[in-house]
Amino acid sequence: MIQQTADEIIAGRRLNREDDLSFLINGDLEALRKAANKIRENLCGNHVNLCSIINGRAGRCSENCKFCAQSAHNPTGAKEYDLLNADEVIEACKKNEAYGVHKFSIVTAGRTLCGGAFEQAVNIYSRMNEECPNISLCASHGLLTEDQFVRLRESGVTMYHANIETSRRNFPNICTTHTFDDKIKCIKAAQKAGLEVCSGGILGMGETWEDRLDMALTLSELNIDSIPLNALMPIKGTPLQDLPVLTEDEILRSVALFRFINPTAHIRLAAGRNLMSESGKEAFFSGANATITTLKYVSIPAVLCLTQNKLSCV
Ligand code: SF4
Repeated sequence: MIQQTADEIIAGRRLNREDDLSFLINGDLEALRKAANKIRENLCGNHVNLCSIINGRAGRCSENCKFCAQSAHNPTGAKEYDLLNADEVIEACKKNEAYGVHKFSIVTAGRTLCGGAFEQAVNIYSRMNEECPNISLCASHGLLTEDQFVRLRESGVTMYHANIETSRRNFPNICTTHTFDDKIKCIKAAQKAGLEVCSGGILGMGETWEDRLDMALTLSELNIDSIPLNALMPIKGTPLQDLPVLTEDEILRSVALFRFINPTAHIRLAAGRNLMSESGKEAFFSGANATITTLKYVSIPAVLCLTQNKLSCV
């Protein structure tokens, strides 16, 4: 049944809320991983897409996301600083470009980015677009308007990052200063402005397997291009500090589940790779085909080991 469904997906079928999806939760993990890997091979090829971010502004966020070190509601002692200067960001972008990283994003803490800080960011993107022609630009600045997305696109940004974070049902347990619908509205505005969207979330925040299914279906319904999957790394000082971390099997099943429901998207490993053996190597053979990385860890070893197993970084 698992293999047959995978073959149907490769032939063009797409799973939706009308389907019996219980096999993704209860099916044999090895069979599920193998089938998800086959979907990835057939519909995405053997390339690993790498992206990197710079924390462009940190701390003092008005929002109360329970997982986040940047929230002013959470006493985490995390660094606080205003928007970095352009030269610092462009230097980081050039380094990533030289390493062959495919996408680079400025991420700013805060509900949104507006006024002078937004104008500053637009100028930085315009300069990166000119000075770093071999890397795609992504942006992550919270809840923006369609007009702001148009400005970002005109400055050279091609993708916007806005995580839905968790399922619609679980979202109010994680954040109450903005809503799940605020997120959806933001994603649709970015798409309307002509941007691709990167949206996923954090697993291990008290959600059920049904919530994970619902989250994957929501992303499929939104036609999301890139889905970052984080495993919660509980941070001291946040309300989620005492939650247990996910097991490797839970992460691998989640990756396979998201691949079955989003067969052509980039399924992108993010935080939590270190919870798995060999930097999450098995996740790349369970449906993942992308990862966020840092120069410190570009995971040259991880990329090499993937290459040896026929996944290559292109
Ligand atoms: S809006 Fe972003 S920066 Fe602010 S608390 Fe939530 S996740 Fe953190």
